[in-house]
Amino acid sequence: MSPTGFTPPPNFIRDIIIKDLETNKYGGRVATRFPPEPNGYLHIGHAKSICLNFGLAAEFGGVCHLRFDDTDPTKESIEYVESIKSDVRWLGFDWGDHLYYASDYFEKLYDYAVQLIKKGKAYVDSLSAEEIREYRGTLTEPGRESPYRNRSIEENLDLFRRMRAGEFEDGTHVLRAKIDMASPNLNMRDPVLYRIRRVPHYRTGDKWCIYPMYDFAHCLSDSIERITHSICTLEFENNRPLYDWILNELNVEWHPQQIEFARLNLSYTVMSKRKLLELVEQGYVTGWDDPRMPTLAGLRRRGYTPEAIRNFCERIGVAKRDSLVDIALLEHCIREDLNKRAPRVMAVLRPLRVVIVNYPENQVEELEALNNPEDLSMGSRKVPFSRVLYIEREDFRENPPKEFFRLAPGREVRLRYAYYITCVDVIKDERTGEVIELRCTYDPKTRGGGSPDGRKVKATLHWVSAPHSLEAEVRLYDHLFLKPNPSDEEDGLDFKAHLNPNSLITLKSCRVEPSLAGAVPGSHYQFERQGYFCVDPDSSSKTLVFNRTVTLRDSWAKIEKTLQGK
Ligand code: ATP
Ligand code: MG
Repeated sequence: MSPTGFTPPPNFIRDIIIKDLETNKYGGRVATRFPPEPNGYLHIGHAKSICLNFGLAAEFGGVCHLRFDDTDPTKESIEYVESIKSDVRWLGFDWGDHLYYASDYFEKLYDYAVQLIKKGKAYVDSLSAEEIREYRGTLTEPGRESPYRNRSIEENLDLFRRMRAGEFEDGTHVLRAKIDMASPNLNMRDPVLYRIRRVPHYRTGDKWCIYPMYDFAHCLSDSIERITHSICTLEFENNRPLYDWILNELNVEWHPQQIEFARLNLSYTVMSKRKLLELVEQGYVTGWDDPRMPTLAGLRRRGYTPEAIRNFCERIGVAKRDSLVDIALLEHCIREDLNKRAPRVMAVLRPLRVVIVNYPENQVEELEALNNPEDLSMGSRKVPFSRVLYIEREDFRENPPKEFFRLAPGREVRLRYAYYITCVDVIKDERTGEVIELRCTYDPKTRGGGSPDGRKVKATLHWVSAPHSLEAEVRLYDHLFLKPNPSDEEDGLDFKAHLNPNSLITLKSCRVEPSLAGAVPGSHYQFERQGYFCVDPDSSSKTLVFNRTVTLRDSWAKIEKTLQGK
């Protein structure tokens, strides 16, 4: 156990690498890669893969490549490439000179395909996509061979060349590996290697109208880059025989090993890019960087730090079995980080006016407030106190129930860093009966919030001085989904049926202490008693906008306690 009490969970991939280094399997080299397809923004699941690949490379003095797996021009764009690069950097990783694109290998990949054809290991099939599906068979039934399977090598070479030259329409022909239509592994039943897509590519433009499939491009890209450990998620386990088949048949110089690990699933979240894109395109969220999205761009805007995300990825470990990680753990990690770094300030989200009737009309006092009571090195600041204040509406009850210890008529409470006050009168809107103002008295002998005669109060409230405070908009975020696993469609409902209608509550007339004037977008604060917030970069707003990163209630700490108690 480390001095912080944190034991890193086991990581079987690290163990494999250690063994490979001992046996000098790859000449002592470690080369990993993170291979995103630029068809969306990165999400917290990708962060797990990034931390793993870059982390292992760093740990063993190796390199980690950033490779764009850009073989499907219909969904890819430069916007996604740029966002991915900036997100990887933001997370704290550096690919150095090792930035690659599968599309840079198109010529080489074409040559490899020609080589397979010449070896009699690939053929041009002219069945339609639907027929190919039909012929493939099922898990219990073997597939059938295509009538085009035994075309001569010459005919295959000619057709493949003409596919490339643009002589055929989309879907008329494909190139397939010639393996085994009766294989128990469906991936080995003559998988498609190339298809015709007469679509311009964001990097290669109109140069190509045939594009390699993932299974063909991926293993060969790994081989070209001399990757040692090709780490991917479990759903590719059944593709591994094909990965190895292609590299063996082509007799390549460099044959990496594919290792699979369990992808991250997080409760109350969806992680598939297709689903995230749907949320963006159909306007359920404001964009890829909506603070409710599990994307790195969304988490950053929400106020998550790279440190917290890396810490989370370390804690969840690397396993061979899929599981659903509790989002409370992610929230715990950001709380732990912000607790150390976020200065405390006072902000009133739903203001209720308070007039201190015995406080001199034009007097203003500057009271000393600690920036972080847990870390005195963060210093202190002055907060102005005056006759008219705001407190939180929910900190007052006219008829308090038994368990309510905050302000009520005739009751005394402490104002943080200021004075004891007692509520002496309640002013209501004549028409609606709504409480609109409290009249209170203060005890000048309690300056700073302490009592000279040992008199106890049961509550300490945050507050701001009305004339000095600034207006702000505060956006309160909650889980995007109501169901722990919205993607499990056992109930027959689309994942969007489980969207949380209250995932965003916008409060427009909040009041924050004046020290927040000019707060920099992205900076973090703890609003006392409310949670952690960060300044939103929304420049369309004239007032300050704060996003709630997370509340102060740590449900994970509770879960851990019960686990330890068992
Ligand atoms: P999605 O399923 O969201 O569309 P993907 O796997 O198609 O994701 P890629 O861009 O191909 O997205 O992913 C790049 C890398 O990130 C791959 O190596 C993939 O295995 C890994 N990855 C994707 N999602 C997760 C996840 N939830 N947990 C861990 N690794 C992931
Ligand atoms: Mg993928």
